[in-house]
Amino acid sequence: MTMHVHGYATHSATSGLVPFTFERRDPRPSDVAIDILYCGVCHSDIHSARNEWGWTQYPFVPGHEIIGRVAAIGNKVSKFKIGDMVGVGCLVDSCRHCASCNEGLEQYCDNGFTGTYGSEDKIGGTPHKMTLGGYSDKITVEERFVLRVPTNLDPAAAAPLLCAGITTYSPLKHWKVGPGQKVGIVGLGGLGHMGVKFAHAMGAHVVMITTSPKKGEDAKKLGADEVLLSKDAKAMEAAQNSFDFLLNTIPVGHDVDPYMALLKRDATMVVVGAVEPLTKVSGIPLIFRRRSMAGSLIGGLPETQEMLDFCGKHNIICDIEMVAMKDVNEAYDRTVKSDVKYRFVIDMASLKE
Ligand code: NAP
Ligand code: ZN
Ligand code: ZN
Repeated sequence: MTMHVHGYATHSATSGLVPFTFERRDPRPSDVAIDILYCGVCHSDIHSARNEWGWTQYPFVPGHEIIGRVAAIGNKVSKFKIGDMVGVGCLVDSCRHCASCNEGLEQYCDNGFTGTYGSEDKIGGTPHKMTLGGYSDKITVEERFVLRVPTNLDPAAAAPLLCAGITTYSPLKHWKVGPGQKVGIVGLGGLGHMGVKFAHAMGAHVVMITTSPKKGEDAKKLGADEVLLSKDAKAMEAAQNSFDFLLNTIPVGHDVDPYMALLKRDATMVVVGAVEPLTKVSGIPLIFRRRSMAGSLIGGLPETQEMLDFCGKHNIICDIEMVAMKDVNEAYDRTVKSDVKYRFVIDMASLKE
């Protein structure tokens, strides 16, 4: 048996999102069926829908910042009951037995995780070969990959925590960002605005590094102590050798040398945005101050739950602009132009319009 789902899909790199109905499996004993209320619009959705990374298969349903209510549970589900407010992020399955999975780092599964969209669906039970994402009214997910959402958080504004939130929280924690450190967040978009909030909440001195003078004042409202304009060569030079950590969310390949030069000796820049070749990574800025450049991918399930609980405790939510599903193509164009404050979230009730 399958359930009938309404959503939006793209059918080619250029066709845009259009209404699409499809099937999902009915809950197995360890599955949770969720009525989706909200889904954030991540830049990765856009890269994928438009096949900018070259691996998209169509029809393609984006969406991995999912918030909803539990509608049904299998008879072995122990963590959730019908009516609970829950979240689903970028992962819906993994091998569950490799070293990474055993450590709760399912995003680094040695046998390949199953992404919420665009991955081979190894569980199956539907006519679709690939997983289909959260721009839809229902989803069925294995219990391990479902998260509890603190009840004090506005559910719509919590949706982007499931990707933008964990992708910034995880490296800040891993590299032990905290009081007494000067931390730069590069790019003020969906990820960047959460990076600023988390680094501030963790007690660091936060510098927003942006191309946009206009966004500067906003960054201060989000928790930044200072703003550095990356297009101001003099200001960039004056800030060299002063940062303990950089989190770089620029969504395309770029010249990293000017950012690497900002780091102190032994400090690290973590790149989470660009998957393209990072042009001009010179040895000199690395060698002369023993600096590092690293990457980081979302976060595992235990850390994602920790991040949501941290947000519940510190009342951290995302700054969102709610859109109707029919307006999602326009939201994509605006995101690409960096014209978003700071995350679009789709109101799934609008699917019924
Ligand atoms: P976004 O909302 O579009 O924000 C990106 C920001 O980067 C823009 O608002 C802009 O900020 C800045 N920017 C854009 N183009 C730039 C350029 N050419 N040079 C310098 N700065 C530029 O995107 P997002 O949703 O935050 O996602 C950011 C990237 O992370 C995407 O590539 C996405 O696919 C990726 N991602 C990675 C992971 C992971 O696990 N590693 C998870 C989620 C997303 P300013 O206006 O402030 O300059
Ligand atoms: Zn994402
Ligand atoms: Zn694994």
